[in-house]
Amino acid sequence: MTDETPATRLICPLTSPDVETMRADMETARSLGADTVELRLDFLHRTPDAKDLERLLTDPPLETILTHRPQREGGHFKGDESSRLKVLREAARFKPAFIDVEIFVDRAEWPDAPVILSHHDFEGVPSDLDEIVARMEASEAAVNKIAFAAAGPEDAVLALEILRSCAKPTIALAMGEAGLASRILAKKFGSFGTFAALGAGAGSAPHQPTLEQMRELYRWDALEPSTSVYGVIGCPVGHSMSPAIHNAAFAAAGIDAIYLPLRIEDAQENFNRFMNALAEHRWVDFKGLSVTIPHKQHALQYLGSERCDELADEIGAINTITISPDGSLRGDNTDYHAAIDALCNTLDITREDLRGKSVAILGAGGVARAIVAALAHYGSNVIIYNRTIERGERLARDFSCEAAGLDALKDLNAEIVINCTSVGMHPKTAASPLEEIPPSVKVVFDTIYNPIETRLLQQGRTSGCACISGLEMFVNQAVAQFEIWTHRKAPRDVMRKVVLDHLTREAGGLGGTR
Ligand code: NAP
Repeated sequence: MTDETPATRLICPLTSPDVETMRADMETARSLGADTVELRLDFLHRTPDAKDLERLLTDPPLETILTHRPQREGGHFKGDESSRLKVLREAARFKPAFIDVEIFVDRAEWPDAPVILSHHDFEGVPSDLDEIVARMEASEAAVNKIAFAAAGPEDAVLALEILRSCAKPTIALAMGEAGLASRILAKKFGSFGTFAALGAGAGSAPHQPTLEQMRELYRWDALEPSTSVYGVIGCPVGHSMSPAIHNAAFAAAGIDAIYLPLRIEDAQENFNRFMNALAEHRWVDFKGLSVTIPHKQHALQYLGSERCDELADEIGAINTITISPDGSLRGDNTDYHAAIDALCNTLDITREDLRGKSVAILGAGGVARAIVAALAHYGSNVIIYNRTIERGERLARDFSCEAAGLDALKDLNAEIVINCTSVGMHPKTAASPLEEIPPSVKVVFDTIYNPIETRLLQQGRTSGCACISGLEMFVNQAVAQFEIWTHRKAPRDVMRKVVLDHLTREAGGLGGTR
């Protein structure tokens, strides 16, 4: 390790098929901020000879790790074991900083170089994990590396626990999307290093973040042992805009915090498993969680209504969890605050002014439920119009309002219309839930944010209505979360810009979710 090598290396695996490209990629990795490159010899189209190894390892621009992974350990090398180990011993002559050697290789076969002793399990957490770690710790290797497939983000916590318990420099990774936290938080917990790909699709493992994501999205340079941890629980969670919004907000506000995507498969017990792991491992420093589909009900169930805000129980869902320093939990639903604030701010009225206003809600799903609960709470007269009449009637019963089918829309006679259906959402942007805007309507609020200007909003504008985009609600809920967690004013403009940039970039693509 030179003076410039950081305690936790950002290691870029190079997986190009030929020696010249791999050599050139070392420079690219350096320019993108890698500290170390892992030369994956098993990705080369042919077994490297001494000349190839010399070309790769003479005066490299970055610290080098050499790996020649066999298929049985998840690599690409298909040949026999003795020729594989021969390449590693040959490579040692050119003095790479480290050579990765799998734990099953006899000590007598190790190359003459500092060794990273590795073990990979693609099925899950090995049943003999403690024994493997103990063997690594007792070995003559310079570095331990253990990687296992994650079933949920609690396995990432397990990997972090290994980092904390090992005396030797260690890499411990929970692989797969659910384990992403272990890759990012590696620096907070003093790992020897973490892997980040040169670019999308260039990684050596699925769901390995890129160098750019590590630096730009996940605040690699700002991560410290003191960094507080936040995240969004959902499934799917890969397209969520929340990590970009909240990490940008933390950076703009100078807050020592990181926000991660946390994939948890649908089911109450999966949600509970992760929450229990956080309670048992408070040292991870989780301070807050956003909760999205399909876990909003699970979150309420886990916390219990006594630990949630007043309307959460009636809505049946929370989307925000705050974790106090003593480990106690509190649940909020910022969705309804976000919608009501978008409405009141645009109309320049207070929440109390909502009393007596006639509001038509189109839809009866999760978003409709949060908004109906809030409007009923503030005394508005609400009529729910839904395609599935029974669902609309159920919602109306819960909040003492009226319900009707879509054919009743022709008689709509409300001052405010709020679209809570997905009609008009990307990619079917020509659709609108209303054929025309009835004369009584003065305000049109579409909760859809992709596109920002829906067909319904265009109709509303043409009819001279005040119009509110789902973008405002979307930004409001993130702002509310930030303020609940940090007790500071959120950098709203920064957060709004992240959403706008994202939607603009994705226009014509998949769009984003929370
Ligand atoms: P949800 O629970 O799945 O409910 C969907 C609603 O849309 C249901 O009432 C459904 O009617 C109705 N619907 C779907 N397709 C329809 C069609 N072709 N014709 C008529 N009605 C149809 O979804 P959700 O979570 O409530 O989300 C609803 C919308 O809110 C989404 O489109 C999303 O864009 C928006 N949203 C906005 C934000 C924000 O922050 N701005 C956040 C989340 C969601 P049935 O009951 O008959 O199926």
